Amino acid sequence: MTASAAVTPVAETTPNSNLTNSNNSKGIAWASSPLGQARNANVAKFRREYETANIGPDSGYNGNRHFVSLHIVVLTHQAICLWLLYRSTPSLHDVPWAGATWTIVLSFLLANLCEYAKHRFDMHHPLSKSDHSPVHHRYFTANSMYLTTFNAGKAIFFRVSFVLTLFYIIMPIPALILNYLVFPTCGYYFLLTSTSYYLQYEWLHLIYHCPPDSIFGRLPFVQYLRRHHRIHHHQPLMRTHNFNITYPLMDVLFRTSYTGPPVFSEEMDMTPPPAFVQHVD
Ligand SMILES: [Zn+2]
Ligand SMILES: [Zn+2]
Repeated sequence: MTASAAVTPVAETTPNSNLTNSNNSKGIAWASSPLGQARNANVAKFRREYETANIGPDSGYNGNRHFVSLHIVVLTHQAICLWLLYRSTPSLHDVPWAGATWTIVLSFLLANLCEYAKHRFDMHHPLSKSDHSPVHHRYFTANSMYLTTFNAGKAIFFRVSFVLTLFYIIMPIPALILNYLVFPTCGYYFLLTSTSYYLQYEWLHLIYHCPPDSIFGRLPFVQYLRRHHRIHHHQPLMRTHNFNITYPLMDVLFRTSYTGPPVFSEEMDMTPPPAFVQHVD
């Protein structure tokens, strides 16, 4: 996620869970409570401030350009990996199928673990420098989950510079070690799986924050994943539950997948969010 928002950051919400005070099993009591309503007003105020300062017409920011740039960076990286892979194993007979399969599976699980760990222990750490809590979790809450301008992608996507550094400087190091220690093309499968996983992350996270009746948002498995992430956006739970943003494997493994009473009703998701500045493209 990006941007130093020109708004007043706030500390993380203490996971005091007013949920336990709720006697409404349909899950709307918290949101309609005075505290919940105050939070909704805060979201509207924060969105106005953030949009005016960071993604408005004078900001120079363009969400479409940001999204396309990320894809150019990642797809170029993948093209280089595929070319190196082809040079090493031009014939299908040369492909180490078992090794490649294991590398892809383990790289996928490692990516899932990294996503979980970074989100839980870095982005939500009280001393974190990330703008995840002070921006993303204030712009999007369980009751205001979706964007109305693609420029709000600035509060969703990782910075291009971060992705460049990660995939072109940091990740090649373990890839070269894998090529040397495991088998000569192991690192390429590792990199291809990691970059593919990253694109899934950005796409899924974007879809979660698009209207729930969007073309991808209607897919059943996306609805399931979206609910998982939406619970994480319920502020009393954001430091304690549902840290996986793509597939909640590590949340299940580490028992941080939320299984308590509902914290919102599906109908509330269809409520139009507060008024924002209009699309600036
Ligand atoms: Zn989110
Ligand atoms: Zn979070």
